[in-house]
Parts: sequence; C-alpha cells; structure tokens
Amino acid sequence: MSQGAEPRGVTVRVPGKINLELVVGPLREDGYHELATVFHTVGIYDYVTAIESDRWSVQVSGATAEGVPGNSTNLAIKAAKALARRYGVEGAVALGIEKNIPVAGGMAGGSADAAAALVACDALWDLQLTRDELEPIAAGLGSDVPFLLHGGTAIGSGRGERLAPVLARGELHWVLWVSNKPGLSTPQVYAECDRLRAAAGVQVADPVPSGDLVAALRTMDTDAVGAALHNDLQEAACSLYPVLDDVLEAGLELGAQGAIVSGSGPTVAFLVGTQAAAIDLSVGLAARGPDGDIRRATGPVAGAQVVQSIVPP
Ligand code: ATP
Repeated sequence: MSQGAEPRGVTVRVPGKINLELVVGPLREDGYHELATVFHTVGIYDYVTAIESDRWSVQVSGATAEGVPGNSTNLAIKAAKALARRYGVEGAVALGIEKNIPVAGGMAGGSADAAAALVACDALWDLQLTRDELEPIAAGLGSDVPFLLHGGTAIGSGRGERLAPVLARGELHWVLWVSNKPGLSTPQVYAECDRLRAAAGVQVADPVPSGDLVAALRTMDTDAVGAALHNDLQEAACSLYPVLDDVLEAGLELGAQGAIVSGSGPTVAFLVGTQAAAIDLSVGLAARGPDGDIRRATGPVAGAQVVQSIVPP
C-alpha cells in the first residue's frame, strides 16, 4: 500500500439463495451427497468490502452478524487468500462484511460472502477474471459458492457446484420466515436425512430435477411454481426443528401458493403472487406466529456485483 494515499477499496453486494427444488441422491465416497437442485437468488443482501492492507483481517457488522467468525475461519477471508495464492498476488486485504443474510439459515450466507470476496479482490487487484474463470476457486471453497458468483435461477448438479442456467422470465414474490434462534448445521441435517431414509428402508436413486418446476419457471406461473417446490431435506429439518411444521402450515393457511424449507433450513420460503399479497402474508404470519423474523424479497436477482470502487484508473 502506498504511504499517505487513501487505501484502495471495492464493495460488492451479494444476495442469499433459496432452493426451489433439492433432490438428495446417494452419499458419495468423498462424504458429499449427489444433488440435483434448482438455486434461486432472492433480494436479501450482504455487502463485502475489500480494502488494501498490509495484513489479512475481517470485521463483521450488520443485522445478522452474531455467530459469524471475525477470524481466518471466515469463508470470505479464505476466498480472498485462495485467489491471492492462485494468481500470485502479494499483499493482503482488510475485509468488512455487513451481514443481512440469515446465518446458518439454509440461505448460503457464508458462500455468498466468499463469492463476494472473490469478485471484490478480483477488481481490487485488477485481475480482470471472468465469472467462469473464478468458478474453480469458488468450487474449492464450497458447493454453493459458484452459484452466488452468477445468481439468477440455475440447476446445480454434482454437489451443487456444476451449474446450468434456467430460463426464468419475470419475478417471484417471497415471504421468508427466519428463525430468531440458533440455526441448523448443514451436515447435521444431511445426517438426519440419511438416518430417516435408512430407518424407512428407502432405496436412494440418482437425483434428477423435476421437469415440472423448470417448465413452471419458464412462464413464472405462481401456482405451478408453488406446486412444484420440493426439498428432500425438509423432513429432516422438521424432525430436528419441529416448529417448522407449524410455520409451513401457518403460511399455507394464510394463503401462500407454495411453501418450502430453504436448503438445510431453518428458513422457510413462502411464494405469493403479488407484492400486496406478500405484505398481507407477512402481517398475518407476524401476528399468528410461530415467533420469527419475517422478511420479504423478490427473486431472481443478480449474483455478486461491484457496487462501489475506490480504485484509481
Ligand atoms: P448453506 O445453505 O450453504 O448450507 P447456511 O446458510 O445454512 O449454509 P451459513 O450462514 O453459510 O449457513 O453459515 C454456516 C456457518 O459458517 C456459520 O455458522 C458460521 O460459523 C460459518 N461462517 C464462516 N464464514 C461465514 C460468513 N462469512 N458468513 C456466515 N457464516 C460464516
């Protein structure tokens, strides 16, 4: 960093994701499950700022900062270091993360911050990499990180890191119920899914996405998308977090056209047809309970994007 000059910095905005469909296949030898999923970004954002510095650091603030590590285990700092290693960048960054995405909520907040750190450091270090060029590093950091580089709506296969875009015209209105108690650990929910399947003697087939959801997304027909929402981890999440059954029932009784636990939970996403219906449902859910934070968002939205750059040309 040059002495006396204002430090160079880049801020990136990144959304959270929900899974419109999550089909969990067999457990692989590497410990991951083979998946077929439909990722969908929603407009709840973290902001990650990377500032030139002599040493690596990360500071976390914002509405959902609690429980997010402010040290080298933070996925965003791991991402920045991985990029520096891969491209031989010397020097370091001070990262600032403003968190709004629920933590351990099944919305991939940590992965989102990692994707944002890659995009921010790419701009700060003038590497000029494309999203496709950032993808291998992203995939090494976590299964959901490549998707958050792109955003939108996409089919994920493998452990979720292999992506194919889905044609989804228009926007969907979501009401999110976010637990105000500690979230669910993703490995724990997968283990519970395996346990429930073994107890029921289920033969696990190779995962295939349903044609119904992809067809419904083409026209963004809310009833059809609502009917096609599906998550193989939902039963396991509800088994570990029984209040989710009441949340799902409450939203459907209040008129949601679809309801799904997002990823490994415990965030629950309700689909409605209009912004007015989203306001009605959020008011109804807040009044009726179960207790939780109610957020509204539309999707799909773009993945990690630079929103501010203090880098001399
Ligand atoms: P996923 O949907 O990808 O399984 P999640 O949304 O359930 O993940 P995250 O919010 O990504 O969960 O966080 C999981 C854990 O990762 C947290 O409990 C936290 O300890 C750790 N973590 C590391 N870095 C971050 C970060 N930048 N933001 C949030 N959590 C982080």
